[in-house]
Amino acid sequence: MALLQISEPGLSCAPHQHRLAAGIDLGTTHSLVACVRSGVCETLPDEQGRHLLPSVVHYQTGGGCQVGYEAQIFADADPLNTIASVKRLMGRGLADVKAIGSRLPYDFVEESGMPRLKTAAGLKSPVQTSARILWELKTRAEQSLGGDLTGVVITVPAYFDDAQRQSTKDAATLAGLKVLRLLSEPTAAAIAYGLDKQAKGIYAIYDLGGGTFDISILRLQRGVFEVLATAGDSALGGDDFDREIAHWIMQQAEIPEDAAHTRIRSILTIARQAKEKLTDQESYPIEFEGWCGSLSRSQLEQLLKPLIQKTLPACRRALRDAGLNNQDIQEVVMVGGSTRVPLVRKMVEDFFQRPPHVDIDPDKVVAIGAAIQADILAGNKPDSEMLLLDVTPLSLGLETMGGLVEKIIPRNTPIPTAKAQDFTTFKDGQTAMALHILQGERELVTDCRSLARFELRGLPPMVAGAARIRVTFQIDADGLLSVTAQEQASGIKSEIVVKPSYGLSDNDIEQMLRDALDHANDDVETRNLREQQVEADRVINALRAALKADGHKLLRKDEFNNINAGLDKLLKTTRGKDAGAIAQAIEELNKITQTYAARRMDAAISQAMQGHRVDEF
Ligand code: ADP
Ligand code: MG
Repeated sequence: MALLQISEPGLSCAPHQHRLAAGIDLGTTHSLVACVRSGVCETLPDEQGRHLLPSVVHYQTGGGCQVGYEAQIFADADPLNTIASVKRLMGRGLADVKAIGSRLPYDFVEESGMPRLKTAAGLKSPVQTSARILWELKTRAEQSLGGDLTGVVITVPAYFDDAQRQSTKDAATLAGLKVLRLLSEPTAAAIAYGLDKQAKGIYAIYDLGGGTFDISILRLQRGVFEVLATAGDSALGGDDFDREIAHWIMQQAEIPEDAAHTRIRSILTIARQAKEKLTDQESYPIEFEGWCGSLSRSQLEQLLKPLIQKTLPACRRALRDAGLNNQDIQEVVMVGGSTRVPLVRKMVEDFFQRPPHVDIDPDKVVAIGAAIQADILAGNKPDSEMLLLDVTPLSLGLETMGGLVEKIIPRNTPIPTAKAQDFTTFKDGQTAMALHILQGERELVTDCRSLARFELRGLPPMVAGAARIRVTFQIDADGLLSVTAQEQASGIKSEIVVKPSYGLSDNDIEQMLRDALDHANDDVETRNLREQQVEADRVINALRAALKADGHKLLRKDEFNNINAGLDKLLKTTRGKDAGAIAQAIEELNKITQTYAARRMDAAISQAMQGHRVDEF
């Protein structure tokens, strides 16, 4: 695999010419910007001393907008124009956005095939909304650093696909930022803890935020980080803890379920306060509508335990995908506000059998790692050279005959990567080939996600199977996929880069992986059947062509009928669902046609010796 050197030659400069570079954690609920100054890395606060910027934009009539805390104020009164969680919409097509959008209270419309948010300030894309947040952070950084930013490192989840990464870059460009590099969030966290300074190691990054859970397994080798595997749950986090506690309060205060919805917001606020306080205290007094009680740490832990337990299967899955067990993990890093909960720390420690790193503020750790990386990439540390790798979240492949998917790059392959495979034509004289790129773990095209289609035209006509077409899948360091198809003899070439509108949500990834596991057995059977059917088709086509050319010359009437009967039998079995029967029918037909094949061969030889072509007979 080709490694990518990221500190560009010639970028290094003298210390007094320190280039201003920042790291940005563009989060679902909060974003942060951090910077290395005089060798110290810290997150930058706003004028009121607040480090976190809520990832919220409020659009106003007339075209203006507010960002962050100022925008959040409008969440209740003006929900349609107060855009939160826009990260979940990045790089998504219309269908995806509609599915996610049902959980979000916004008005979506379509504009030239792409989803847009309908706001008082006009139609806004998720990229534009993200750009506003980035612009706010850029302004904050430039004011506090006193100069223009040379470039930034922006973090994205390790499982972000091509479209989501490209959208993040587009948002940065729109905000007037130069992206030195997109960095995966778990890798940033590992860098913040200085794990990159070790000789080598295998690390688990456990990220439990407000609404999402991610586990990533990283490997460090010769200064190179590689994301070996990722897993998680895009709908599990601190918000679920709050709901569980709120439910308990409602039970205690004897509030009927159906009456609760009008008060749910205030109950949730109390629940969240109780949860956060119980991180440091043993008990927390609660008063709600005349009910006075208290929640103890151990009661809280009883409520939260089943939820925290739900994170462990994903940890096991990530380990399995990485081909490791929990003994292999040398260090565990905690990321996200919910990892402050003592029981979370304890259960993670029990699972990995070692105490996790918790010293750096779990809200800031990703931004800090990004800033350290930005400082290096901007050329402020000419001696350091760091190679960072990510993995593909799902397998990428091509459609082949029979509606099957041939996987070219398996899931969890470290990127950047390039893999090539040779294909050939199915029909005589075929001059074009359709290429269909798919993503997913299933065997059938219909069960995978279609990413793009393109054609290779102008192939020199050849007999079936003679052409050699090399298809290369290449994923760059930022996760963008380009696919090239080239006919080897003529050099004719065609290429496509997969475009942003083909997004995919982390929920979809989870679902696709689950489906692949659930259908593993029948998928193998279906694949087997389709392959036999394709082979049968090939045999039938070839035999028919031969019979048409010289069957009546080389075969007696009874031989001809015998072969035709075998052909009919194969045709019939092919329509059935028994792969074994098809294979057997092919073999029988091969036996029946043995004599015929031998005679054709003799005819071809004697004809060649006489300087005649077969069809001149
Ligand atoms: P996200 O990555 O989804 O934006 P964060 O990493 O900011 O989320 O985590 C937010 C979550 O952390 C919220 O559910 C919040 O209640 C929780 N949290 C913050 N501080 C504490 C604390 N002291 N104890 C327990 N949970 C906390
Ligand atoms: Mg987070």
